[in-house]
Amino acid sequence: MKRMWCWRCKQEMPMLDEDEYAEIARLYSEATLAVKEYRRTWGIPLENASIHERFEPVRARYESITGMKESNENAIMHHRISLYGPPCKQCNKPLRTPKAKLCGACMLPVQE
Ligand SMILES: [Zn+2]
Ligand SMILES: [Zn+2]
Repeated sequence: MKRMWCWRCKQEMPMLDEDEYAEIARLYSEATLAVKEYRRTWGIPLENASIHERFEPVRARYESITGMKESNENAIMHHRISLYGPPCKQCNKPLRTPKAKLCGACMLPVQE
């Protein structure tokens, strides 16, 4: 876990390394499958409230890794260190992707 600036959340957020992320991703796909399974079996959409409940293990795991409560599991899924590039030489915020050609925060071009 590492605290890094998240351009989507516009604040510093705890980001997951690959081991931590693998665990979260597994819980997330289990929850997704359970929701799909429910829809297939019953042919009716789950209420938003019960969908939220199914993703509880994802949020609980994220909280125990990072010590931070996050109520939106989709935000958790983009808090993965490897999605971001190295820190910008000017503003020190991580580039938005490992292949970014310029910094999304201060627009400094990335030099090779
Ligand atoms: Zn974020
Ligand atoms: Zn920058």
